[in-house]
Order: sequence, then structure tokens, then C-alpha cells
Amino acid sequence: MKIPSKIANPRYDEPLCSRCGLCMGNAWPEKESLQSCVFNTGWLGMHEERLFGRRRDPADPNELAFGITRSRFNARIKQPVEGAQWGGIITRIALRALETGLVDGVLTLHGTHLNPKAFLATSPFEVLEGRGNKPVLAPTLVALHTAWSKGIRKLLVIGASCHVHALRDFQSRHLYLRDTEIHIVGIPCTDNLEPANMRYVFNHISRHPESIVSLEFMQDYRVHIKHSSGPTEKIPYFCLPPAVLKPGVFSNSCMSCFDYLNSLADITVGYFGAPFSKDWKLQWLLVRTEKGEKLFDLIRNEVDISPEMGRGDAIPSVRASIPMTAAPILDPLSVEKRKPMPRLLGELMCLVQSIKGPRGIEFARYSIHIHAIRNYLFVKHRMPERLNGLVPEHIHALVKSYGLGMPDAPKPLEML
Ligand SMILES: Cc1cc2nc3c(=O)[nH]c(=O)nc-3n(C[C@H](O)[C@H](O)[C@H](O)COP(=O)(O)OP(=O)(O)OC[C@H]3O[C@@H](n4cnc5c(N)ncnc54)[C@H](O)[C@@H]3O)c2cc1C
Ligand code: SF4
Ligand code: SF4
Repeated sequence: MKIPSKIANPRYDEPLCSRCGLCMGNAWPEKESLQSCVFNTGWLGMHEERLFGRRRDPADPNELAFGITRSRFNARIKQPVEGAQWGGIITRIALRALETGLVDGVLTLHGTHLNPKAFLATSPFEVLEGRGNKPVLAPTLVALHTAWSKGIRKLLVIGASCHVHALRDFQSRHLYLRDTEIHIVGIPCTDNLEPANMRYVFNHISRHPESIVSLEFMQDYRVHIKHSSGPTEKIPYFCLPPAVLKPGVFSNSCMSCFDYLNSLADITVGYFGAPFSKDWKLQWLLVRTEKGEKLFDLIRNEVDISPEMGRGDAIPSVRASIPMTAAPILDPLSVEKRKPMPRLLGELMCLVQSIKGPRGIEFARYSIHIHAIRNYLFVKHRMPERLNGLVPEHIHALVKSYGLGMPDAPKPLEML
């Protein structure tokens, strides 16, 4: 049964805004928030320098892709949090931060998966209520206004990169949060979209859109679609219907996002750099700062740690994916004409990729590079005047390493 969705044809001429929520509250003037909007300040650059004392080294392949870290490893929680997205490491960190008095409030999300509401949690019950992904744009930073108005000065913020950029900038630019001690847990984030567009995707991707709670692009090259009841659907990435890949489905902000791994968080908690775990419990952690170490220490005894691993070489897979990734940007109409790969062939491709393709951190590197290239091309072709303001230096270096972005790029990539 289809769910109500007004979207028949997604648009791609909307202004850049990821609905982060910073300019939606009323504790301080909107114009002060807008000064810190990441779509005004640009990604990384000075922010990275302010936090780490330097920018990432583009000559170091791991820093280029994953940002500056103190340590990276895989972790499996011994007692998973029921209803969490993965094992619930984020929820456990937040609960422990509150219980130990490290913080007095947690910025998280309540509401439903398609209608998330920013929430300032001040009790364990309220933190627990925030678990699980809301697979759409979410206005988390509205609750920053609530926290400040309530006089909460020790805060844990859980957010995507656009939340974290705006928050870091706002704290350094204005006086409001000068005496607020902020710890940040970041989620990796990409390809996010407006709730209305997500309904459109649900309707095109499943025969039971009404019961979908979330979907993830997994390390087995399939999109896993979780339902509130019944089995998880799995669609080979190569077999996705063209309707969900056409320009305008993903938000323009997310097509102009250059910090997939939340490089300004104190700790990033994801999954896709860890080996594929069928039970969705193995997570990949990137500890970035001293505060991040303190946050991880809160749950160190609750998890089994293993070293991160990588197999294969991401770079040839990225090169092979560039033409298909670039097509919707260079020739939007071509997507409509494209037929999805037959299911059997798609399954075969998944099998081949899972044997021969990049694994562990190489899979993460593959996904980070190809999204960076896609987004670079999106900005270059849709808003070339923003290319220097939005795109950080290391992304220019990254696209150059693939022969893109240079005036004298060799054929056939010259056309990109
Ligand atoms: C749109 C989206 C895309 C993602 N893409 C990737 C990816 O490609 N690779 C990867 O490794 N990880 C990705 N993640 C993160 C991953 O799915 C898990 O959220 C993360 O690993 C934490 O799992 P957990 O069980 O510890 O979280 P939980 O303990 O369940 O806690 C999740 C926390 O995240 C917050 N949250 C949920 N949805 C959002 C949202 N839309 N915006 C801001 N905060 C939110 C919740 O409020 C909650 O506090 C993505 C998340 C989202 C929302
Ligand atoms: S991204 Fe955030 S700060 Fe920028 S305009 Fe949108 S809601 Fe406001
Ligand atoms: S993809 Fe980037 S801009 Fe979009 S919601 Fe995620 S962090 Fe924000």
C-alpha cells in the first residue's frame, strides 16, 4: 500500500539548507545563527584547524578520507540497546554521560522516523527515547536554543556533520555558548533527504512502504530495508529503481556536503568501516579528540574491541563507478531512461563485489571517495560560483587524484 506523498517529481532547484535547526529557534536572532550555517561558512577548513591545530594532511590516504583521529577501531556492544540503530553505542554513551554527571542534558531527536523533533533530554528515559535512526533531515539544533534558555551549561550533542559544523562555528563566533561545556558524538551521514522525498523513495522501493522504519546501504552492496514487522528486504544497490536515483531526490544540501565522517565531532560512531555483521551489531568508531576519549571511556567496559581491518583496493572500484555516478548530474534525463539491472545479475554483482571488492575500511574509503566526487561534480555543475567557498581543500586534492577538476584532465574524464 502506497503512503501519502505529494512528491511526483523531486526538484533540484531548492536553496541549500539541511534543516539543521540552528536558525529555527528563538533564543538569539536568526541572523546570528545564519552566520554559522555551514552553507555560508563552507565545510572544514578553518574549523578543522581550530579544533586540531592543523588541517588534515591530504597526502595521508587515511586522513584524506577519514579526517584527523587519535584512534579508530571496531566495537561490539555486549548488551545491545533494544530498538537502537545498530548496537546502541551512541545511546549508551549518552546515558553514561548523563548518569556520571559529565553532562546535564543531551541534544537528541524524538518524534517519529519521518517526523523527527529536536529534543533536550535530561533524564535517562528521555535519552533512551531518542535511539534509532530518523532517516531524514532533522532539526536537532532547535534544542540548542532550549538548552541555552534553560541554563544548561554541560551538554552532549548527538548530530550529523551539518549540525556539528554549525554548532562549532556558533560557539566560536558568538558569546552565547562561551561558558557551555560541549561534548559531541557524531554520526556519519550522507544522501539524506526531506521527509516528503523519503516517502516518495519508500513508495518506489518496497511493496510495503507503510511499515518501513529505516534503510541502510550496507557493506554487502545491498540496501537493507527494515520494517516494523516482518523480514528485512534486501535490494542489490545496482537494481535500485531509477526513480530513486534521479536528481532532486536527495536534498541539495546533502549533494553539497563534504564531511561524510563528521570530522569535527569528538567521536564518530558508524558502521560501514567495520566488516559486515548480519546482526547489525559491529560498529566502527573514530575517536578524534581528548573529549572523545573521555566519552569512549564511559562505555569501554561494555564493548569488545577489535582492530579495524581493510581488504582490497578502493581506488579501482571508485574509478569504475565514476561514469555511472556522474550521469544523473551531467545528463539528468538519462536516469529516467536507464533500466535497473535485472535482479539475478544484481545478486551476482553483489557476490562478486563481496569476494573481490573493497572490504572494511577500504569499503568506507570507496563510499567516501565516490560521494565526494559526486558532490564535487554536483556543485561544479549546478552552482560553480560556490565551488571555492563550499568545497574544502582536501576534496580538491581528492578529485584531482582521479584526474577530475583540472582544466587539462585527460579524456574521457575531461567531459566531467
Ligand atoms: C541519514 C543517515 C545516514 C547515515 N549513513 C551512514 C553511513 O553511510 N555509514 C555509517 O557508518 N553510518 C551511517 N549513519 C549512522 C548509523 O546509521 C548509526 O546512526 C550510527 O552507527 C549509530 O548507531 P547506534 O546504534 O550507536 O545509534 P543509536 O544508539 O540508535 O542512536 C542514534 C542517535 O542518532 C541520532 N539520530 C538519528 N537520526 C538522526 C538524524 N537524521 N540526524 C541527526 N541525528 C540523528 C538519534 O537522535 C540518536 O541519538 C547514518 C545515519 C543517518 C541518520
Ligand atoms: S542549514 Fe541550518 S542554519 Fe543553515 S539555513 Fe538551514 S536550518 Fe538554518
Ligand atoms: S548529508 Fe550532510 S548536509 Fe545532509 S544531513 Fe547529512 S550531514 Fe547534513
